[in-house]
Amino acid sequence: MPELPEVEVVRRGLERHIVGRTFDAVEVMHPRAVRGNDVDLAEVLPGLTVTGTGRRGKYMWLELSDGAALVVHLRMSGQMLIGPPGSIVSPHLRIRALMGDVELDFVDQRTFGMWQYAQLYDGIPQPVTHIAPDPFEEEFDITAAARAMRLKRSPLKSVLLDQSVVSGIGSIYADEAMWAARLKPWHTARTMRQRDAVAVLEESRAVMARSLEQGGTSFDSLYVNVNGSSGYFSRSLNAYGQAGKPCARCGTPIERTVVGQRSSYFCPRCQVL
Ligand SMILES: [Zn+2]
Repeated sequence: MPELPEVEVVRRGLERHIVGRTFDAVEVMHPRAVRGNDVDLAEVLPGLTVTGTGRRGKYMWLELSDGAALVVHLRMSGQMLIGPPGSIVSPHLRIRALMGDVELDFVDQRTFGMWQYAQLYDGIPQPVTHIAPDPFEEEFDITAAARAMRLKRSPLKSVLLDQSVVSGIGSIYADEAMWAARLKPWHTARTMRQRDAVAVLEESRAVMARSLEQGGTSFDSLYVNVNGSSGYFSRSLNAYGQAGKPCARCGTPIERTVVGQRSSYFCPRCQVL
């Protein structure tokens, strides 16, 4: 599952290569890839120009010249590919769009993802309006988000994954942020101190920013894609997936537990708050 940094890499690639281009023709190869629509994308999109891109959490969209948006749900295995017309050959091609001298394709092996035409409300597409701002947005208020976290009775790990409190933090970055802030994943958010809640949100933003720096350099080519992994994951993780390996801070072996039905990796010695 792509997390915020991977989705942001795709958005930047689309910003660079697709903004200013106009849909000439759209062909839908699989009905599941457009199931969230009450309009026919092959009829609505041709003639519309992409005027910008947007992202909130793991949601990304293209802004269109009619004032609406095309939300791209990548889900588990969705990829956005750009290349010269006819250059992309895949058995998992779900939607093909011709835009001048390039083709924008949606390839999705598992077909959980989709393209969705939607109206914008204050710059946010309707299917995304229930999602809280992510830590990279101007609207993100870290003090208010920390307070909202502390109203929850759920374990901290679950609250970090709760998209109505703060969006974009997946399991990997939640574990890394809790390790950095020395917080126990199963600790009830309601009994946290405000400064610890602020700290874990700051660490979430920091770890995702580092991932973006390291993984965000691969979109110089015309091809943009995402498949849920970046080099950062294997090189620089302190907690996630590190069970049995020594903690980088204290040397104690990292342990794995389950919180809210999700695997959580933590240091039993130094995550004590
Ligand atoms: Zn430790």
